Amino acid sequence: MTTTMPSIQVVAPRAGAMEVRTTSIPHIQPHEVLIKVRAAAVCGSDLHLYQWDESIRPKLLRASDNFKHGVVAGHEFCGHVVEIGGAVKTIMDDPGMKLEVGDFVSAESHVVCEKCYQCLAGEKHVCVNDKIIGFDRDGAWASYIALPSSCVWKNDKNLPFEIAAIQEPLGNAMHAAAHFPLKDQRVVIFGLGPIGMFSAVIALMHGAKQVTAVEVSEYRAGIAREIGVHNVIMGRIARTPEDRAAERARIQKLVRDAAGHDGPDVALEMSGHPDAITNSVKSVRRGGKVVAFGLTKDAAYTFDDYSKDVIFNGITIQGIIGRRIYDTWYKVRDLVRMPEAQKKLRKIITEVVPYTEFRGGIERMIAGKAGKIVLDFGRG
Ligand SMILES: [Zn+2]
Ligand SMILES: [Zn+2]
Repeated sequence: MTTTMPSIQVVAPRAGAMEVRTTSIPHIQPHEVLIKVRAAAVCGSDLHLYQWDESIRPKLLRASDNFKHGVVAGHEFCGHVVEIGGAVKTIMDDPGMKLEVGDFVSAESHVVCEKCYQCLAGEKHVCVNDKIIGFDRDGAWASYIALPSSCVWKNDKNLPFEIAAIQEPLGNAMHAAAHFPLKDQRVVIFGLGPIGMFSAVIALMHGAKQVTAVEVSEYRAGIAREIGVHNVIMGRIARTPEDRAAERARIQKLVRDAAGHDGPDVALEMSGHPDAITNSVKSVRRGGKVVAFGLTKDAAYTFDDYSKDVIFNGITIQGIIGRRIYDTWYKVRDLVRMPEAQKKLRKIITEVVPYTEFRGGIERMIAGKAGKIVLDFGRG
């Protein structure tokens, strides 16, 4: 076996400073597994990385030791096991599950400590010491990645690689969308980025009575209609405070009218835009549920009418981060085993490109001209 590999690294603290570099294939510790990467997906957070946005800077500066070296990007992937450390016993929190060389795997991207209160209380997704691959430590946009066995998820052998590569973000969507029951519910989704789109698939497959989405991009609205979203409401980009207020009122009315009664049962806020957050809080019915997933650009958000909209209306707002380890992964496995779900997910994956063409893919995503992009690292 050769000792070096290609990897896509963030090499400097500025926008666009991402390139293919040759590095050593990692050596594994006794509790780790070495995986040959088959394919890896591009996430919205990777766009922040590529654009050197403020939100990701502290992590990258720490991981690169202030750019004394590069950091391998990427956290959504699948591949094959090539080496297993001597101390590895079981995986997926299942004592009966054994890992073998050649197994087709994906991985939980949050490496958790297994020692903090949350980890011990069965809430590993909110571990206080978690390290995210591709941000806090080397990631998966490389021919090989070494990971603790506690992160490794064994896939069905026949799962198509492009679907296997997107299970991590699909898990975000599952954790968010399925937090509240969906069966026979009227659901509205604000923002049809990949996670919003995956949430639509989940809501439809979980038997939501009606799925409405609010989106500003025609391209994305088109994909949503193709996967079976019942109503797509086109948002307009408003700039002045007066226009924004008018646009909020217009959207809230359209969302409520689409749902009938006094509004949808569940709102999934996937955009992080302050007006969409306000719309999600104000458009759900009394007693409705709001799932908060989209990250805001600015740290602050102000409620429009907190007492009325939240307290008197008795709504529930749930913040979602990561995936429940491994409850969410088992739910994702059930979903991707359904041929109908795979068909819908394929419409959201608009491109599978060789990893060397990552730059063009990222730029098309930034321009809103692509759905989910999967980078092909080859059969090897
Ligand atoms: Zn991601
Ligand atoms: Zn922990």
